[in-house]
Amino acid sequence: MEAVQIRIHGIVQGVGFRPFVHRLVREFGLAGSIRNTSSGVELELEGERAALEAFVRVLPGRAPKLALIEQIETEYGLPPRGCEGFQILQSHAEQRRNTLVSPDIGICDDCRRELLNPGDRRYRYPFINCTNCGPRFTIIQDLPYDRALTSMGRFPMCPDCDREYHDIENRRYHAQPDACPVCGPHVRFLDGVGQELPGDPIETAREWLKAGKILAIKGLGGVHLACRADDPALIRELRTRKERDEKPFALMCRDTAAAEKLCHVSAEERAVLESFHKPIVLLQKRDRRPDSVSENGYLGVMLPYTPLHVLLFGEDLDALVMTSANLSDTPIVYRNEEALERLRGIADGFLLHDRDIQTRCDDSLCWVVDGREYFARRSRGYVPFPLRLPGSQGGILACGAEQKASFCLSRGEYAFPSQHIGDLKNAETLEHYEQQIAHFERLFDTKPRLLVCDKHPDYLSTAYALERGAREGIPVLQVQHHHAHLAACMADNGLQDPCIGLIWDGVGYGDDGTSWGGECLIGDFKGYERFGSLRPIPLLGGDRAVKEISRLAYALLREAGCATDGIENAPFYEKMLAAGLNCPLSSGMGRLFDGVAAILGIKSLASYEGQGAVLLEAAAETDEGCYPVVLEGKPLRFDWRPMIRALVKERDAGLPAGVLAARFMNTLIHMGVQMALAASRETGIRDVALSGGSFQNQVILRRLPEALRKAGLQPRIHRRVSCNDEGISLGQLRIGAAKLS
Ligand code: ZN
Ligand code: ZN
Ligand code: FE
Repeated sequence: MEAVQIRIHGIVQGVGFRPFVHRLVREFGLAGSIRNTSSGVELELEGERAALEAFVRVLPGRAPKLALIEQIETEYGLPPRGCEGFQILQSHAEQRRNTLVSPDIGICDDCRRELLNPGDRRYRYPFINCTNCGPRFTIIQDLPYDRALTSMGRFPMCPDCDREYHDIENRRYHAQPDACPVCGPHVRFLDGVGQELPGDPIETAREWLKAGKILAIKGLGGVHLACRADDPALIRELRTRKERDEKPFALMCRDTAAAEKLCHVSAEERAVLESFHKPIVLLQKRDRRPDSVSENGYLGVMLPYTPLHVLLFGEDLDALVMTSANLSDTPIVYRNEEALERLRGIADGFLLHDRDIQTRCDDSLCWVVDGREYFARRSRGYVPFPLRLPGSQGGILACGAEQKASFCLSRGEYAFPSQHIGDLKNAETLEHYEQQIAHFERLFDTKPRLLVCDKHPDYLSTAYALERGAREGIPVLQVQHHHAHLAACMADNGLQDPCIGLIWDGVGYGDDGTSWGGECLIGDFKGYERFGSLRPIPLLGGDRAVKEISRLAYALLREAGCATDGIENAPFYEKMLAAGLNCPLSSGMGRLFDGVAAILGIKSLASYEGQGAVLLEAAAETDEGCYPVVLEGKPLRFDWRPMIRALVKERDAGLPAGVLAARFMNTLIHMGVQMALAASRETGIRDVALSGGSFQNQVILRRLPEALRKAGLQPRIHRRVSCNDEGISLGQLRIGAAKLS
């Protein structure tokens, strides 16, 4: 008989870990106690040495699926104290704060079975959940993670639920949000003016949806607008009401089989789609032509992730459009009163409930690349899972950029990237941003000792950092945008040593005050050198050229010495260019994409940032052709003029736009490889980090790494945070940590 102390580090709190340990302890005939600690849990067990060792051996393999064990430390041979049974000890007050919070988890198979079993007491109860599934992050007000400090605090458990909660054999043992029809929240259905209708709310919603109505449906992290996905006129109506011209909508499909009717679903995509994270997965459409839901080759598809969604689909609905309920770039609507007020005239009816959402969290969005998520948005189902950055430091708040804003807070070796915040361009989004920063600092009990932000003087995130730094006396570090991208991709891949970075995105404030975005950097967390770039493009009218992309076409054609007759307003642009009036220069890759999209006649007016690149990808056919790549100077410049001349020549010869689009992207891939090779020759570095919004383009994302590998280089793509500006905060944080150390 002896005692052992076992320290388990990782995400082992709020994921059903203690009940699991409890059961395992009993199975092995041991006795002892468990307590939450700052980095995980600590066990003290007593028994025979062989049994203790066997326990430690099997523990990782049998842990709950949500647990993430990073390290197990053991100390055998301690004197036994004569414990009996198993005790869950209260955590010390200061340790309570040091826990990790689980993300929201999609409905599990067991709960789904009970939900649809007429004999179960939770039959058709839309808030069924258990230790393995249900709301977490979005209902937590504060830590410790106890029912009283969640939205469920106002729903005292009935005797039946209470019994399950305390029964170690039960799969709802210590499940904080557990409830049933007797004691838990309820749904209600209201018409367009907020009048509650009698009858089964979910059945009413189903009838209204089938009849072609647009409904506001409260979900986990906010309210969706939903309607049938098979009625183009209805979807156009939704676009009009939501003031959303062309951006694709997401779909929710009843199950993978329903998704397969619309899209190709590989085994890897299916696994991500059905995982407990339940993200929106961008899948290739069977019919690639633009349709009312998506103008490009992909459909964003997710599966029902709450019991309410499961009931809503029933047996007969296949697919619904499910889009975040928000207006003109403000955050997603998440409160009942707010929904009724702001969505009046947009939604024909409301399916709401009385379990409050504490924290907004939009659906996550990803492709599946090499069997894993490749994020365009990392949010619901993933946040607030931290990333571990070994050797890094706590107490840093990285404030992100502007578009796809996020922030990242560090505590110890953990970095906590925030959920999707939105484009930080208006007061409401800023308020949401500031609230969430305060929420994270409270949840993770961290006050920053360093603030990191972008160098762009006009970003609201920069203003936030500077203002707060001055007010609270916290130092502020401003980091160049593309350096932060490089650092984000390095941190994402666990790299420390200097790296080559191909950082291609729309726009970022350069060290010379011009706008950058087609960069080849060499650097690490401490600093960087701008090794290469694009020949700058004059943005006729500044920001207007981001929308009116025919202005970019004009600039490219004019600089390349090609005819510009096809372009509207050409004489006006000519005057601007000649006078150099309001024509800031940009080396942004996104602008090159936009300009080429316009030259090919694919699009002349962009309705959202990056649309040119999206449509070029959608239009591209399979073709191996390539235009000339001219690199010269120091920093090495990609002179795109010969490429534009060759492209225009082929266009004028009548080659299809799809072929030209493919050749354009092939040229960029070729250029990227040449630039990285030049950087590698000079430095001996082989790692090439690929970051920036242009790497959402799946042709570039899949073919550039292949080409780099063939050239003997080691490509690194984003794996845990988004390649777009959402991922910037992680890079800022890592650069900040290097500064502190
Ligand atoms: Zn469950
Ligand atoms: Zn109950
Ligand atoms: Fe960027």
